[in-house]
Amino acid sequence: MGIESELIWMDGELVPYAEAKVHVLSHTLHYGLGVFEGIRAYEQPDGRPGIFRLGPHMRRFVDSAKMVQLKLSHDQAALEAACIETIRANGFTCAYLRPLAFMGAGFMGLGATENPVHTVIATWDWGSYLGEEGMAKGVDVAVSSFTRSHINANLQRAKITGHYVNSIMARYEANLNGFAEAIMLDSNGYVAEGTGENVFVVRDGKVMTPPVTNILGGITRDTVLQILEREGIPVVEQFFGRDALYCADELFMVGSAAEVTPIRSVDRREVGEPGPITKRVQEIYLAGVKGEVEWMRPYITVV
Ligand code: PMP
Repeated sequence: MGIESELIWMDGELVPYAEAKVHVLSHTLHYGLGVFEGIRAYEQPDGRPGIFRLGPHMRRFVDSAKMVQLKLSHDQAALEAACIETIRANGFTCAYLRPLAFMGAGFMGLGATENPVHTVIATWDWGSYLGEEGMAKGVDVAVSSFTRSHINANLQRAKITGHYVNSIMARYEANLNGFAEAIMLDSNGYVAEGTGENVFVVRDGKVMTPPVTNILGGITRDTVLQILEREGIPVVEQFFGRDALYCADELFMVGSAAEVTPIRSVDRREVGEPGPITKRVQEIYLAGVKGEVEWMRPYITVV
């Protein structure tokens, strides 16, 4: 399946896929000041689609826009309703949702603030981000030679389109070298995150993950922290270096697109088959998003 759908929501109305176009002089296309989200909807036990953690995703979208001073034309509640409307209009039961806000045409130059801000919500059928095999057996990753931006270079806690050039460089490098994904270090040399995922390390039955200071505060990361807590598995949020990756018992990456993907090697050093904690977290997460875990049900917006 490609990224096609019947209809895309644009500034308050649903337009046919082929007509959802922008002008080449759109400001964001030139300079990268846009904000976006990546959300999944899963088929629920009754056959209806359910959007996972729509509220936190759209709150982050609104927060991202606020951080970069993009004036959205719709508030969080209206945007959530638009996501529901878009899924419904396209008849998807299982889908990926992509809200995006960007500056349109009007003025050029970096000081432009008065261009119209457009918001779109697209949806399409997207399988496993790092592949079915990766989900089952784990993926091979490498520590990137590209550094995550310094905390004062960008607003890394916001999901800004322009940030992703840094991620794409890391992803291309990893793929060219035969790896599925990259892990990025921050400017202090601590493990930051994947190009589009947060990272978890397991050793001696304990889990750690970097704190949300200069990384995206992942919604999946938050869900996984709750899963670990409920399972009674100790977890800490702390900084650590690549050395912790090299002597981990288990490693995994999480994200709305990547879900819970085990890592089987890092820099060609073997981590091994997905371990018990990784498998448990993955199992609960994948069941939970489908409405099969009681406490996670309130996280689902059934469409
Ligand atoms: N970090 C980065 C850089 C990302 O792009 C993503 C994907 N949105 C994540 C982490 C994971 O965030 P979430 O679980 O909210 O999808």
